[in-house]
Amino acid sequence: PLAPPRRPIRELPDELISQIAAGEVVERPASVVRELVDNALDAGAAQVTVRLLAGGVRLISVEDDGAGIEREQLPLALRRHATSKIGSLADLESVGTMGFRGEALAAIASVSELSILSRPAGQSSAFLLHAGSGELRPAARATGTTVEVKELFFSTPARRKFLKTDATELAHCIEAVRRHALARPDVGFAIWHEGKLVEQWRPATREQRLADVLGQELLEQSVAVEYSAGPLRVWGRAGVPDAARSRADQQFAYVNGRFVRDKVLSHAARSAYEDVLHGQRQPVYAIYLEIDPARVDVNVHPTKIEVRFRDSREVHQAVRHALENALAAPRAAAAAPAQG
Ligand code: ADP
Ligand code: MG
Repeated sequence: PLAPPRRPIRELPDELISQIAAGEVVERPASVVRELVDNALDAGAAQVTVRLLAGGVRLISVEDDGAGIEREQLPLALRRHATSKIGSLADLESVGTMGFRGEALAAIASVSELSILSRPAGQSSAFLLHAGSGELRPAARATGTTVEVKELFFSTPARRKFLKTDATELAHCIEAVRRHALARPDVGFAIWHEGKLVEQWRPATREQRLADVLGQELLEQSVAVEYSAGPLRVWGRAGVPDAARSRADQQFAYVNGRFVRDKVLSHAARSAYEDVLHGQRQPVYAIYLEIDPARVDVNVHPTKIEVRFRDSREVHQAVRHALENALAAPRAAAAAPAQG
């Protein structure tokens, strides 16, 4: 057989490296929304406003009132592996921010037309940076940052073809913000689509935010979860068996405030409902696990939606017991009415 022609090994150009990375991080508009809202929250925003056109395909704009970015730092924000969030391996091992990889903006910019408008706290002017041209010029804005992403995947038509209808992409974008909204009741969120306000969650108590996001009715059909096992804490709400649904679309699990899709957590939840739920019925829950950051690795997946626990048995047991206890508690005592 003929040996394949030998081609030289070359280092890829930066742009191409970012586009490859973008393949992992940016699947659809909702991935961009998630990354940009993560950044807004990391910047200490109290209010996050998301504006979309055509389900986010034509435009995603995320506006925050956070700490902003200094003029000199704006170009750095777009560089790969450039981050203000970690500086050492020790930081990585106990990371407390949503981001830390310094990849998202570079990746998104490589598959869209991205611009950042930012005014840092304590500065009198804002600056606007266009990623494509590198042009940086003065602009006007209150303290905070707006990132605009236009024409997602315009340069990668193969990717663009995988997008669904605008309505479907919009639904995914809204879901991405809901996940954040359930993690951060203290922050206000608004989503606009084609100039119309489609969702709004005002800053609220934990209970009220759960009611606002999941619906008052669902919340009333749930019990409080509160459980500690050593340094592990599990809290939140668990839907009663009657509230179960045909789809697993109301299952929210958080690890130290980060939304995750984790097999250990979902299996633990599933087994807690084993005796009370039959067939394919899917439980409803929003559970929050608090754990020593050194006992969980969030640097497993580019999108950080998967995590790895140092002791997954301990986590499994805690979550299972937390839910079992909550579900076994007398309904009247456990069903605290939502305030507000
Ligand atoms: P990461 O979030 O992992 O650090 P990103 O590419 O998402 O990487 O962002 C790069 C850097 O740009 C961040 O570390 C942060 O310093 C800055 N940045 C991005 N978005 C914002 C924002 N909305 N407000 C303030 N700073 C931001
Ligand atoms: Mg980020």
